[in-house]
Amino acid sequence: MSELPPGVNVIQHPLVRVKLTQLRDEQTKPEEFRARLAELATLLAFEATRSLQTRPEKIRTPLEEYEGAALARPVIIAPILRAGLGMVEGMLHVLADVSVGHIGMKRDEKTHRPESYYFNLPSHLPEADVIVVDPMLATGHSASAAIARLKQAGARSIRFICCVSCPEGIEQLRQDHPDVPIFTAAVDRGLNENAYIIPGLGDAGDRYFGTLPRL
Ligand code: URA
Repeated sequence: MSELPPGVNVIQHPLVRVKLTQLRDEQTKPEEFRARLAELATLLAFEATRSLQTRPEKIRTPLEEYEGAALARPVIIAPILRAGLGMVEGMLHVLADVSVGHIGMKRDEKTHRPESYYFNLPSHLPEADVIVVDPMLATGHSASAAIARLKQAGARSIRFICCVSCPEGIEQLRQDHPDVPIFTAAVDRGLNENAYIIPGLGDAGDRYFGTLPRL
């Protein structure tokens, strides 16, 4: 993608690039894949939360009173099942006091469109800053449908974080949800005939859960 649309943030921190390279490497085994994905998620969460609002918070240090900061609004992490689960642990390292909701997406056999088969989000969704996570933004259809479902349930502030994206997915998501900023570690070349991102990293869920066929 020669020029990125507004609202798309590619995180090019050296540690992000190194960890993503390790995730892409076909030699990386599930144990290492899980560890690197968690670390990458922590780094991406750090960047994606840069614009969260804070409110003054009065505390006492051991020496005197101090006015610091607390997050102004509750945060909800919303992984798209199943691969999104792989990013939750790493995000919780920097967002400890948050809720985690879950969105299960599957493809409808007739319409071929993704639909949510599981949606479990806390009731304070309308007041929260929601961070939707999925390691791969491929066609963008699942992410777009998940975000539409969140909006239908009242979510008003949504960010989307992924590790690898491609022009097709970015275009789809920006078109459907121009209000939702995208944070990604890379924008890859495109999709192959099976809707896998190339060069990508393969099936993120299978690599994380160790469910690749054993030869
Ligand atoms: N989902 C994945 O896990 N990998 C891709 O390349 C595309 C979708």
